[in-house]
Amino acid sequence: MSSVPRPMPVLEGLTAAFYGHLRRRELRFQRCSACGEWRHPPRARCRSCGSEQWQWETSTGRGRVFSWTTVHQPIHPAFADVPYAVLVVEMDEGVRMIGGLAGLEPSGLALDLPVVATFDPIDEMLTLVRFTPGR
Ligand SMILES: [Zn+2]
Repeated sequence: MSSVPRPMPVLEGLTAAFYGHLRRRELRFQRCSACGEWRHPPRARCRSCGSEQWQWETSTGRGRVFSWTTVHQPIHPAFADVPYAVLVVEMDEGVRMIGGLAGLEPSGLALDLPVVATFDPIDEMLTLVRFTPGR
């Protein structure tokens, strides 16, 4: 673990609400109340029907690897523990989200690999999602 403080996300508005759910170990995405479409990252209006009516709904936490990148060269001293992978996961709800990898070396990744979201508490304010193989 590096002694350099890690850069933190700005937690405000809908982003703060999203991370608030993660802090309680709940993965929730917005879902349009008018047409039912799930969306992520958080935004005010449905891109399908334009409705501003929505609610947070709980994800299954399950998805498949859509893409990833493996970092070999640290771009910040707080993330010097390389190599590590950053995944884009297509969730069962249809949204895509970015998360880290847990329980697998980056060399073991494959497209469409089934993964499950796990929660990685960083501090009292921030919990991140990491994906681990499984259904
Ligand atoms: Zn809609």
